[in-house]
Amino acid sequence: MNYKQQLEVVEGLFIPPDTQMRMDCPFCNNKNTLLVDTTTNNVSWYCFHASCSAKGKKNGEKTMDYVNVTFKKENVKISEEFKLPDSFKIVHSNNKALQYLHENNCWEACMWGRADIKYDVKQDRIVFLVKNPNDNKYAGAIGRGLNSKVYPKWYIYGNKDIPFKCGECKDAVIVEDCASACAVSNILTGIAIMGTSLKESHKKYLEPYETLYVALDRDATKKSYTIASELTSAGFKNVKVKVLHEYDLKCYGTPEIKEMFYGK
Ligand SMILES: [Zn+2]
Repeated sequence: MNYKQQLEVVEGLFIPPDTQMRMDCPFCNNKNTLLVDTTTNNVSWYCFHASCSAKGKKNGEKTMDYVNVTFKKENVKISEEFKLPDSFKIVHSNNKALQYLHENNCWEACMWGRADIKYDVKQDRIVFLVKNPNDNKYAGAIGRGLNSKVYPKWYIYGNKDIPFKCGECKDAVIVEDCASACAVSNILTGIAIMGTSLKESHKKYLEPYETLYVALDRDATKKSYTIASELTSAGFKNVKVKVLHEYDLKCYGTPEIKEMFYGK
């Protein structure tokens, strides 16, 4: 969210003047990580969670440098484990969420337990939980808005460095979003990078696979080649681009995915 959108949210909290308070962060939903300060005739806000970039200030002599110097993230240690917010309910509690799963070929992955999927009643999002492969604990979640007013369309809760993974197959495919990762997961391990560029932090999660396909959505084929060459330069010897000619991977069921990658 940009500064203006953040300011709107913070002003919507109706914090009285001359107050300094900690509260649950409305941007990352972590417990008690947001500091809001309305003293000295200003409104400033800052989230202490390492993975959240919420901060800003309105009306004042104090600059962003002041905010940065005064509230250092290093000084506050917050557990890496992501605690599921109370607003995460079972996915069956919402019809739009169920419909999304069916329409995007995620239902099977959800039913077989390959993906942990919830419904966030607070943000009206279908939420894919992200686990840390090192300790198998929740590290964060990725939510997709279920109505057009939910902004942004995709929202990352908690850790932003671990990609969403679905499935335990020997070959993996890098995809853009969680739904595509679920759709392929009976045939290949789906790894969603949430967008069209690979983060440095993603690379270590891509190592254990025999073949690593890159299959971003159809409109991003060029980006698939960019990612493949980045991985090859980083030492991966098993990377292949899978060009999608018609639809994104989330539009296909298991038999079609199988045929697409391994033939009949
Ligand atoms: Zn935050």
